[in-house]
Amino acid sequence: MPIDATAPYDDQNIFARILRGEIPARKVYEDEWALAFHDIAAQAPVHVLVIPKGRYVSWDDFSESAPADEIAGFVRAVGRVARTERLVEPGYRLLANVGAHGGQEVPHFHVHLFGGKPLGPMLARQDG
Ligand code: AMP
Repeated sequence: MPIDATAPYDDQNIFARILRGEIPARKVYEDEWALAFHDIAAQAPVHVLVIPKGRYVSWDDFSESAPADEIAGFVRAVGRVARTERLVEPGYRLLANVGAHGGQEVPHFHVHLFGGKPLGPMLARQDG
């Protein structure tokens, strides 16, 4: 169910539990600022999630509240993950869902990296 991007941080969310090592994840990268792991329900040949280690509900929260070194560390980590996964030359898509209209389901800020094939239109075609 989509979340409210302005809600307080919930320490029991699934990505907080992955960060604490309480549930497993297929990790692809980790540093001081970020953790990256394969999405459990991949929607492309490569579908990796990158999350900051800090407690941020959404992009809105992260962009507003995170210190500059944390923002820089996270952005650098996302770029490193894309290079590590060899996504740069063929190209890839970077996506952050925010709140209900964005379809955000996990209330810990994350970006999706999609790649491994041509990804088609940016948004699914919908009537209305
Ligand atoms: P979003 O809709 O942007 O909040 O995306 C949440 C993503 O987290 C979805 O693509 C889920 O498949 C993924 N996800 C949920 N639980 C897990 C998990 N335990 N390990 C890896 N990915 C997960």
